[in-house]
Amino acid sequence: AATLSDSPTIFDKIISKEIPSTVVYEDDKVLAFRDVNPQGPIHILLIPKVRDGLTGLSKAEERHIDILGRLLYTAKLVAKQEGLDEGFRIVINDGPQGCQSVYHIHVHLIGGRQMNWPPG
Ligand code: 5GP
Repeated sequence: AATLSDSPTIFDKIISKEIPSTVVYEDDKVLAFRDVNPQGPIHILLIPKVRDGLTGLSKAEERHIDILGRLLYTAKLVAKQEGLDEGFRIVINDGPQGCQSVYHIHVHLIGGRQMNWPPG
């Protein structure tokens, strides 16, 4: 049965360019764009262009292994492109307790300031 988290999300409209975003990287599989509510000088979201059931990391299946690897590898490329040579933070929020708000998997790339550990 379809659940709320299977519904289209705002990221579909970002992929289709119906909603404008500042794209920093794009290929046939991955889109990377600046977060509208940045948590650092650099805050970029990396998403698969096709969700294919991957609403969040907790829904990952073996067929998603390639796209999961691509998201992380692309995050590294974008970090380099953005000049984050001193380091950066990668985050994947999952589910209510993980503070996920958009149910289309996304990798946060945050940098340009000193990060704290542990996170809140
Ligand atoms: P989550 O909380 O699900 O891990 O992250 C969702 C992220 O999407 C948030 O950081 C939020 O600021 C970002 N976001 C939500 N709507 C939009 C939008 O319309 N445009 C952009 N660029 N980012 C968005």
